[in-house]
Amino acid sequence: MSVIYNRVALIGLGLIAGSMALAIRRRGLAAEVTGYARTPATRDTARRINLVDRVCDTAIEAVKEADLVVLCVPVGAMGDVAQEIAPHLKPGATLSDVGSVKRAVIDAVQPHMPDHVHFVPAHPLAGTEHSGPESGFATLFDNRWCLIVPQDGADPHAVAQLQALWQGMGANVDQMDADHHDLVLAVTSHTPHLIAYTMVGVADDLRRVTDSEVIKYSAAGFRDFTRIAASDPTMWRDVFLTNKDATLEILGRFTEELFALQRAIRQGDGALLFDYFTRTRAIRRGIIEAGQDTDAPDFGRTKKDG
Ligand code: NAP
Repeated sequence: MSVIYNRVALIGLGLIAGSMALAIRRRGLAAEVTGYARTPATRDTARRINLVDRVCDTAIEAVKEADLVVLCVPVGAMGDVAQEIAPHLKPGATLSDVGSVKRAVIDAVQPHMPDHVHFVPAHPLAGTEHSGPESGFATLFDNRWCLIVPQDGADPHAVAQLQALWQGMGANVDQMDADHHDLVLAVTSHTPHLIAYTMVGVADDLRRVTDSEVIKYSAAGFRDFTRIAASDPTMWRDVFLTNKDATLEILGRFTEELFALQRAIRQGDGALLFDYFTRTRAIRRGIIEAGQDTDAPDFGRTKKDG
């Protein structure tokens, strides 16, 4: 594949930026990739593993002459980073991000954007519970969706170029409105994470009562919850602080359903439980048919994809 951007700058060098760097290198999608992370330790690790072509000691240095800058930091940090780099962005450059929430990122970043920069937010629907520069891998985005959220009046060429980059990194691309994105993600990602955090928290409380049997005899259901609940605390704190309304809306519906199932159990309503579980099983089948997971035991997970 040919070069799509001459220089790409990745701000933040964790799971997503690291995977982007490796996926860009895999297909030669950029002539040079620069990177910056907040702490010297992360920058040193990135240098040691040769994650990007050039690790810079400041974000300003990293974005200099970049044709595409991608903010790969926690959602709550996007606004401050955007403010810092804005005066140093090249005229005609595209600024994008990979944040898991879109409306809050747009509100935080847009005010800092100079007129000569194209701001095109995006969100790859791919990840693992691991974080940091060593957790990235080149195939993370293969056959996953990346949602691009163009703003009113967005430059079609800038949008098409970003779309081509994500496709080059292996992703399928769709466009979506920011509020709709946040609602969809509240259903498919944010609320399920909160439920996993809660279930593991409950088990942790019980563990103190049952003397570690929860860990020792941990069965598949609980183990899957613990994998999700091991996700980065900073990232997920920011997701819930910034996608508040949609998460609370979905959580309200979840609670109603939970009460309905609770009542069915109490009343011995086997038909309701059976019908409910039959309906949910079909959703799992749909996800496998859409190629978004595998039917292999333990979801066919290898070490890399958690
Ligand atoms: P990560 O592995 O924890 O990496 C985060 C990076 O951001 C690190 O390099 C960190 O630098 C830097 N950073 C943290 N706070 C910062 C601050 N205040 N200012 C500047 N840099 C800061 O995280 P990630 O999983 O790649 O997530 C990055 C973004 O992608 C988030 O917005 C997240 O919502 C989004 N996302 C994540 C997933 C997922 O499953 N993980 C999926 C899709 C999208 P230091 O190491 O030096 O602190």
